[in-house]
Amino acid sequence: MTVGGWRAAKVVDVADVTPSARVLRIEVPGWAGNDAGQHVDVRLTAEDGYQAVRSYSLGSYGASETIELAVDEIPDGEVSPYLVRDVRPGDELEVKGPLGGYFVWRVGGAEPVQLIAGGSGIVPLVAITRAMVDAGAAASTRLLYSVRTPTDAIYRDELERAGGDGGVAVTWRYTRTAPEGWTAPVGRLDDDALRAAVWPPDREPIVYVCGPTGFVEHVADALVGLGHPPARIKTERFGGA
Ligand SMILES: Cc1cc2nc3c(=O)[nH]c(=O)nc-3n(C[C@H](O)[C@H](O)[C@H](O)COP(=O)(O)OP(=O)(O)OC[C@H]3O[C@@H](n4cnc5c(N)ncnc54)[C@H](O)[C@@H]3O)c2cc1C
Repeated sequence: MTVGGWRAAKVVDVADVTPSARVLRIEVPGWAGNDAGQHVDVRLTAEDGYQAVRSYSLGSYGASETIELAVDEIPDGEVSPYLVRDVRPGDELEVKGPLGGYFVWRVGGAEPVQLIAGGSGIVPLVAITRAMVDAGAAASTRLLYSVRTPTDAIYRDELERAGGDGGVAVTWRYTRTAPEGWTAPVGRLDDDALRAAVWPPDREPIVYVCGPTGFVEHVADALVGLGHPPARIKTERFGGA
């Protein structure tokens, strides 16, 4: 049942995937499915009636009544520590959506796709990667994932498979600590890293950039500087500095 667009939902599975992030699988009766890249609003209600609402991208896509979210804990945040540390299978919450019709990928486009994620910004880009692989479009998909350290990478195993047999070109960028023997530069994404990993402008890619606001703005500006037309850069800002 929906009231004001809110649907009752139940957490069915939680998995800790990094020291600060958790994947949640949530059953939403009546969910009609969603496009890859969309998000939901999640509403939590405390026993005293206090409510908090936050947006979370969908890692899942397609027609299933079980959706998948991945939440990274923001220290001192109001909602994310609860979703990462406290929520349990069987707990109830509410979701509204699917939301967002712009930051999505649908079957049909012939152009190459460049995905660029910072931190938890990987979530909608995993949904897009899954959709593109399922659609047989892995060869035109490139993914550049910037994370602090190897253990901070959400969906690491799945992305390694996508970058191996899956046929997606996956590039990792570590901003603080890299694995043993890593020879590529470590640090914030710069022009050299973007030039090396991103489809060049003459291939006319659609570029999806997602992550904390500062990351998205820095990367989008750098892409424009490298010759990517602003109209072909789609951005999703998760908040923060
Ligand atoms: C469309 C959309 C999709 C999103 N998808 C995801 C997702 O898939 N996974 C996920 O983990 N988060 C996602 N977010 C961010 C999420 O909505 C919350 O902002 C985040 O979980 C923090 O909420 P909080 O209540 O813990 O922190 P708050 O109490 O709201 O904020 C605490 C402090 O942290 C800062 N802050 C808030 N968000 C961030 C951030 N993302 N990065 C750095 N600092 C921040 C605030 O400015 C504030 O100073 C998404 C946001 C949007 C708009």
